[in-house]
Amino acid sequence: MQNLKVYNTLSRKKEIFEPLNAPFVGMYVCGPTVYSEVHLGNSRTFISFDIIFRYLSHLGYKVRYVRNITDAGHLENDADEGEDKISKKARLTQLEPMEIVQKYTLDFHHVLRLFNNKPPSIEPTATGHILEQITMAKDILNKGLAYESNGSIYFDVDAFNKEFNNEYGRLSGRNVEDMISNTRELDGQSEKRNPADFALWKKASPEHIMRWDSPWSIGFPGWHLECSVMSSKYLGKQFDIHGGGMDLKFPHHECEIAQNKASHGKKEPVKYWLHANMLTLNGQRMSKSTGNTLLPHELFSGENDKLSQAFSPMVVRFFILQAHYRSTLDLSNDALLAAEKGFQKMITATHTLSTLKAAQESSLNIDELIAKWYAAMNDDFNTPVLIAQLFDGVKLINNIKDGKSTLNKVDLEKLQKEFSSFVFDVLGLKTEAQTQNQGDEILNGVMKTLLELRKQAKDNKDWTTADLIRNQLAELKIKVTDTKDGAIWEAE
Ligand code: AMP
Ligand code: ZN
Repeated sequence: MQNLKVYNTLSRKKEIFEPLNAPFVGMYVCGPTVYSEVHLGNSRTFISFDIIFRYLSHLGYKVRYVRNITDAGHLENDADEGEDKISKKARLTQLEPMEIVQKYTLDFHHVLRLFNNKPPSIEPTATGHILEQITMAKDILNKGLAYESNGSIYFDVDAFNKEFNNEYGRLSGRNVEDMISNTRELDGQSEKRNPADFALWKKASPEHIMRWDSPWSIGFPGWHLECSVMSSKYLGKQFDIHGGGMDLKFPHHECEIAQNKASHGKKEPVKYWLHANMLTLNGQRMSKSTGNTLLPHELFSGENDKLSQAFSPMVVRFFILQAHYRSTLDLSNDALLAAEKGFQKMITATHTLSTLKAAQESSLNIDELIAKWYAAMNDDFNTPVLIAQLFDGVKLINNIKDGKSTLNKVDLEKLQKEFSSFVFDVLGLKTEAQTQNQGDEILNGVMKTLLELRKQAKDNKDWTTADLIRNQLAELKIKVTDTKDGAIWEAE
């Protein structure tokens, strides 16, 4: 445990990981804005943090992983102008904003499940925390670090910098002049005292659909505020890890730190800031707003001109893990084809491993090999090095099968336990059979519940419900037969 090092964006170096209250670890990761389908770039970031979640848990830490859903208040550009992305989609598709939110939240969960990501411990939504956001905005206002202008509340970057030793910009390494020269002059900027200031609350324009009452106006919260509120609500005023994609360093995370300090005091709100690098497509960042995207289902079906075939979710996951989370990664058909070969080789080795026989003596030191796997992950979660070292394990497994190397019983059991736990638990890969079995388990559970409900309906002489269940299942080609021991089912 003590050997884990993580790269902290705040200090710009690798630091020994020492949680504030070991064995507990609090980790907050910025979740998606749910106004369109999650693309592979988003998926990469969430897979990166899934690995971090998995490895910390593997080391024995008790991790509370909070990942939010941004379902309000995220404007089209960072200068606090433009339309709310969700409102815009709702207007264009003539749906309720919450229909958009529901649809794309389900899509997001579905995709991450296919990639075998573990769900977070808490998944709070911005719209579920409007009151807390108003409270935090009030608090910052009362402390003299924000001001009201025409029904909107803006964070006062100058006032903050005076009181907090010019802290604004420390995370992203920018100075205020740079930030201002990068901020476009837009309508409404005049509401701000300083172009670097950012919104804690925005008064809604007449066409803005998502709106709530507040002491200042009917409006909506600034995007940055939700993460300050939800992270501190569920993890405390100081917590261990805050993550997100590199593109969120500025302004989002910079603003979060400023808000947290303004409201909670000088102590660093987050001990380790971790940022995952971007997935690119044809050398350009994959992004929803520019349309340079590839969607997971296009990969799974192969329906895209850029692909020669379909790739399974596990092959795509393996491809993503072949790069370190802090490096950029470019998606290409050739790289996916190579990943498919590598993935199959590794999975075949897990099968072979279970059939190996122990010998009297070990011909090599297995502990040295396993120590390298831990060393790779302890070095800021270096999955590409881990994968390379696991392939040394694959070589060994094949050598044992061919009689070229031997392991005694204790060593062989160690190899079996550690190799599968790195492949399945830490990297989160799955075999086809595991995917299948998981599906079977779910189906069996659902069928058991349905047949139980049908039995209760029959016991209550509720023939309509009993028939409804049987007929609906028949439409799905699931045949239910009553026997003296109860109903049984089979898929035709
Ligand atoms: P969004 O829904 O745009 O707020 O993005 C959700 C998460 O995906 C954020 O952490 C982003 O930093 C991350 N993200 C967006 N584009 C990419 C990309 N091309 N590669 C990796 N991560 C990305
Ligand atoms: Zn966030």
